[in-house]
Amino acid sequence: MINRTVKSLGLALTLLAASVSLYAKNNVVVIATGGTIAGAGASSTNSATYTAAKVPVDALINAVPQIKDLANVSGVQALQIASESITDKELLSLARQVNDLVKKPSVNGIVITHGSDTLEETAFFLNLVIHTDKPIVLVGSMRPSTALSADGPLNLYSAVALASSDEAKNKGVLVLMNDSIFAARDVTKGINIHTNAFVSQWGALGTVVEKKPYWFRNTLKRHTTSSEFNIEHIKGDQLPVVQIVYGSDSMIPDAYVAYAKAGTKAIVNAGTGNGSVASYIVPTLKQLHDEQGIQIIRSSRVAQGFVLRNAEQPDDKYGWVAAHDLNPQKARLLAALALTKTTDANEIQRMFWQY
Ligand code: GLU
Repeated sequence: MINRTVKSLGLALTLLAASVSLYAKNNVVVIATGGTIAGAGASSTNSATYTAAKVPVDALINAVPQIKDLANVSGVQALQIASESITDKELLSLARQVNDLVKKPSVNGIVITHGSDTLEETAFFLNLVIHTDKPIVLVGSMRPSTALSADGPLNLYSAVALASSDEAKNKGVLVLMNDSIFAARDVTKGINIHTNAFVSQWGALGTVVEKKPYWFRNTLKRHTTSSEFNIEHIKGDQLPVVQIVYGSDSMIPDAYVAYAKAGTKAIVNAGTGNGSVASYIVPTLKQLHDEQGIQIIRSSRVAQGFVLRNAEQPDDKYGWVAAHDLNPQKARLLAALALTKTTDANEIQRMFWQY
């Protein structure tokens, strides 16, 4: 009799614990960095002329009280700037803050509010250096918080929903914009004026509708827990210098030479078409590579497709690297991280295939 009572008490306790954990809210930290989502204009009809990075994190959170139904939300003001002004210093400091937070057992997910201009860079960098399976979601907006039909509040609501979802674990760093869920490695800002600004040539991973994520694909590339890069092994507040030169017709070689003089360790050539290099530019790049050890990374100014190794230029012969499908700004970050580990172009090429 006593035995049976103890057993049913145990069962009741187990059921109670299960239902508490079913309904317990996850803890999500919103890290604010500035951007349009924290922007303010002179009037509600100023949707494009405004000052970015004005509204503090608590006001951002309080403006969307519905997110408190999704998760226990706390805020951290990491930066308050327009994202085009982010440098290695801010990027590394942000990565270290995110790393400290994801290591806390009490934190289940992270949302980072960010200017849309370089949101894709920060997302990709974190995707490469943070070792966690907890959701990290970057979110921004295209209209300032003061505008009619501001897109920030719903974006933030959906981002918190995503960051508190167990289904978002181990999918790499995610970007939530305009209801769509993107992988950090291939999302890019494709339109600079509309709310559907973010695109990926390989498509979104999924979409969030009324706080529920729906998933349609996954990335096959290495990220977060399977990355060989780790913010904990990067010292100081600067990455190896890597700069981008944009390709066009009628170029002069001076930009490449100037960057070399300024100490760049790699040049990402945002070439025409399939990462092409003009015949009259090739000797300069060969010289910088052969005589100064500067890595030449062939990316493309074309938003879609991917650069093929040994097509357009003999990469094997010259010791150059093809950026594969990474756009120039992402190729810049991967090259910088690669250079923290190696100066072997074959190794760097392997990294470009894998990430
Ligand atoms: N240029 C600003 C930034 O990237 C505003 C753009 C935006 O957030 O949409 O922070």
